[in-house]
Amino acid sequence: MNLAYVALGANLGDPASTVRAAFGALANLPESRVVHCSSLYRTAPVGITEQPDFINAVAALETTLAPEALLDALLDLEQRFGRIRAERNGPRTLDLDVLLYNDLEIDLPRLTLPHPRLHLRAFVLQPLAEIAPKLQLPRRGPISAWLPAVANQGCTRL
Ligand code: ADP
Ligand code: MG
Repeated sequence: MNLAYVALGANLGDPASTVRAAFGALANLPESRVVHCSSLYRTAPVGITEQPDFINAVAALETTLAPEALLDALLDLEQRFGRIRAERNGPRTLDLDVLLYNDLEIDLPRLTLPHPRLHLRAFVLQPLAEIAPKLQLPRRGPISAWLPAVANQGCTRL
């Protein structure tokens, strides 16, 4: 059995509902079991501020899917959610990233693990640390050491 961490993010339509529904969809993935879901976090957009806040979260999965099969399953889910149209609120999109897969380090054209930017993003580190406070990041040490540097990114727990 393998332990994988997946990041969820949405900022169109009703992003909190999208992320909650995505937790449900992850629970239905083959060969996989959701063992932890973080709270939802809100991050104000940087740069282009004329867009809605982002809602982010992290889930921990026990899975026997191989890393690339897990990525394919997540990309399928993104497609499914991308097609959902809210009655009045327009399109909803969902981004699903594999953050970690055990301690695996790989750099394939379509899959880099650990996710190369995970240690720089409050909206990943904060929910990840919530469900795995003692986590050791491959080559980067304890997750707790990375939190102070991102504390000013305006990411708050809902
Ligand atoms: P991003 O998540 O960086 O904002 P996308 O969701 O459009 O952008 O992802 C683009 C591509 O990144 C995916 O098609 C996938 O093949 C690749 N990729 C590489 N490493 C990962 C990873 N760890 N998790 C998810 N996608 C990844
Ligand atoms: Mg992605």
